[in-house]
Amino acid sequence: MDPGILCFHHCDHKVFCTIIPEQCPVCQQKLDRYDYNLLPFRVPYPFVKASQHPRAIVMKPTHGDFLNDYYNSKDLHIGVTNSHGYVVEFSEQGIQGVDTLTKTWSSCNMGAEWDQCLLLEQFDELWNEIWDSVLLKMSLSPLWEANRYNEERHNCFTFVLAFLRALDCGELSEKAQDPKQFCKQYVVPRTSAAGKYISLYRQLKRQCFFIQHQ
Ligand SMILES: [Zn+2]
Repeated sequence: MDPGILCFHHCDHKVFCTIIPEQCPVCQQKLDRYDYNLLPFRVPYPFVKASQHPRAIVMKPTHGDFLNDYYNSKDLHIGVTNSHGYVVEFSEQGIQGVDTLTKTWSSCNMGAEWDQCLLLEQFDELWNEIWDSVLLKMSLSPLWEANRYNEERHNCFTFVLAFLRALDCGELSEKAQDPKQFCKQYVVPRTSAAGKYISLYRQLKRQCFFIQHQ
């Protein structure tokens, strides 16, 4: 999943690429890939697989993936993983990730759909029991039946914020009282950091190098 974007420094420029070239694309000087002065590093990939992050709040674009399809925060979908890494989400189809008949978790959305998402927050193992019990209880509430869904007022965010308030876990629960505060503190910093990576990725899809003057 990680496209492996690299960055190195040369002749007062920062060069982004996926393979360190033989010659500097700016000054054409021959490069030694092992030259420490190039300060090469791999640009950190900002996305994670939800299934590898139990007890977490995760976000992805409503349609498609971040790298290729994401444009702005209006397109975001948010969900919660349980202690096994199954994603529980609320949409026009109601709750997914929990089987309302058997009242147990369902792995129906363990496909690739949540393989490129942003991690908003993850809790440690000590929370396993309470996290799962609050999440399961909430998911089974008639509040989250498909016919209650409303794109503006009763959506995936409403569900996640209600879960965080019910969890009663301190600061995060407090911030979940106010959707605007929550977005400002938890959503915007993640999406803007990811935005930089996304634009770099898209530049490198069109050309071999992306060059920044230092
Ligand atoms: Zn150079």
